[in-house]
Amino acid sequence: MQIIKDETAMQRLKNAYRIVALTGAGISAESGIPTFRGEEGLWKKLSPQELASFEAFIKNTAMVSEWYQHRREIIHHTQPNNGHYALKELQEIAPQFDLITQNVDGLHQRAGSTDVIELHGNIMENYCINCNQRYSQDEFDELYRHNPNHVPHCYCGGLIRPNVVWFGEALPEESIEKAYRVSQEADVFLSIGTSAQVSPASNLPLIAKQHNSYIIEVNTSRTAISDLVDLHLKGPSGEILPLLMDDYQHLINGAERFR
Ligand code: NAD
Ligand code: ZN
Repeated sequence: MQIIKDETAMQRLKNAYRIVALTGAGISAESGIPTFRGEEGLWKKLSPQELASFEAFIKNTAMVSEWYQHRREIIHHTQPNNGHYALKELQEIAPQFDLITQNVDGLHQRAGSTDVIELHGNIMENYCINCNQRYSQDEFDELYRHNPNHVPHCYCGGLIRPNVVWFGEALPEESIEKAYRVSQEADVFLSIGTSAQVSPASNLPLIAKQHNSYIIEVNTSRTAISDLVDLHLKGPSGEILPLLMDDYQHLINGAERFR
């Protein structure tokens, strides 16, 4: 089934040197990982906004640690879906491709994508807030299990936190700088499964647009940027992206059906 029917979209994709994709929680929804703003976004009646901050971590360390262990448990039992695999394939055939994600689940890497720009860190990594010592998930699990209060401490006494960016925190400088740079250079920019509400990631499609990129949005709903994009493809990314990949492959191979 052909999904790109718009002539301009076809031309822009066909001629694109650099394609950039920005993904959000929506791309992992079909793998079974709840989004923050979806119906399953609440945990023990608390919203992510009430849990994912440094203040919450200091005030309710055990609860926040428990929430992260709960999310890791979910992620541990999931697999990448066809949306993740389609982007891995895109990396292999596009002249230049950059993948920027707001997700912390590592599913792009598990699907085989490389050089993923992780804007919000990775949930499987942890570090001490006092001395910066890194802890692998296995090391963290060990400390978590042996601490009756579920508040793992570093050998220096500091609290150990997940290596994710919380509300109100700055993004890793290197990642956001690279994300801005490649977005400016994008010929085609794909915004996938993100509500485009969390800044600065939400600025990236707009920056791309200012630099004459062609913006394609893939989402099950309309979002804050839907009115600004060039093409809105409505539907689950696990279904839309493989179709998009198929079209792209035909376009760059100059196949019959597009003549
Ligand atoms: P969000 O929860 O704000 O928005 C998710 C978006 O995905 C919505 O626009 C929704 O309509 C769309 N969506 C839902 N199912 C979809 C599907 N099958 N296909 C395509 N689109 C679908 O997510 P966000 O914009 O990424 O921002 C929330 C923040 O939460 C991010 O910073 C991220 O770090 C964090 N987060 C990460 C994960 C993860 O790593 N998997 C999960 C939840 C939240
Ligand atoms: Zn320490």
